Amino acid sequence: MSPAQSSALGPVARAGVSGQPRPRVSFEFSPPKGPKSEESLWEAIRRLEPLGPEFVSVTYGAGGSTRERTHRTVVRILKETTLKPAAHLTCVEASRAEVDEVIQDYWDAGIRHIVALRGDPPGSLGGAYTPRPDGYQNATELTAGIKAIAPFDVSVGVYPQIHPESPSVDHDIEVLKAKIDAGATRAISNFFFDIDGYLRFVDRIRKAGIEVPILPGIMPVSSFEGLSNMAGRIGVEIPAWLANHFEGLDADPETRKLVAASVAAEMCARLAEEGFSDFHFYTLNRADLVYAICRVLGVRETLPTTEPKEAAA
Ligand code: FAD
Repeated sequence: MSPAQSSALGPVARAGVSGQPRPRVSFEFSPPKGPKSEESLWEAIRRLEPLGPEFVSVTYGAGGSTRERTHRTVVRILKETTLKPAAHLTCVEASRAEVDEVIQDYWDAGIRHIVALRGDPPGSLGGAYTPRPDGYQNATELTAGIKAIAPFDVSVGVYPQIHPESPSVDHDIEVLKAKIDAGATRAISNFFFDIDGYLRFVDRIRKAGIEVPILPGIMPVSSFEGLSNMAGRIGVEIPAWLANHFEGLDADPETRKLVAASVAAEMCARLAEEGFSDFHFYTLNRADLVYAICRVLGVRETLPTTEPKEAAA
């Protein structure tokens, strides 16, 4: 497609045309709750694997509630796929010694990337956080603790609409700086829908002299009710236009999926035009929407799917 032809189209149609660099993508999964969700998680992993993501990450349940399941999932990805897994880890409800043991176990199992987070209080997303006196107090301390154990690649979280506990964007940027000084090499953003706000946020980070990659966290969500509940608790604003798109679709999951994919594709395409080339997708353990959005961005299969093996005991 010539530049003249493509300029007549919108960002989605223009995205991924030849000549543009291939974006780098990463995918986030949650550990499965039982055999059925394990099956659907692995279907999603197998479908997305050939897209050749930079890494895939596996979350750590509130209060460390998924410690074993996160570990098992990350190690299985390492052993049975071509993917590079990253393990999320939080400071919640654990002593430093306990967290250090988890870190050492990951290193011994061959995991080389940790997403270091403070975590939220168990059972009350958005509630007040009280660190354990004998534990890591925040993600800055956790990052330093991880680096003291082994030379992991460490990613940390950032909040385009500021963290709900933070007094200001400047404070959040100071915290990010501290996490990078402690050894983090990449930040992954919370999900957001205000692109202009995101661009201003990243601009402020760059003006503060922070140069590490900041990956926009993209949530292609098809359950608007679930999204609204979660967003309300973690301080993410849901714009009126998004609510409007989903209005009246409660009983129509297929259309909700199409809407969700088109919204996320447009967000990514606009960010790509602004020069962003890394995207982190909150997959919610489903491949279809993320796969479609990657296609729009010009991300194509580069690897064969690896053969499934028996689930680890
Ligand atoms: P921190 O960066 O530690 O910041 C929390 C507060 O601590 C700051 O507001 C600040 O007041 C204080 N602080 C931190 N460092 C310093 C410092 N150096 N000096 C002074 N004050 C400081 N939660 C889970 O439970 N499991 C997950 O798997 C998970 N995955 C996530 C993935 C991403 C990409 C993101 C963005 C969030 C994720 N979360 C997860 C949620 C996260 O745990 C919560 O948002 C939590 O409230 C904050 O975590 P944080 O690592 O950003 O905190």
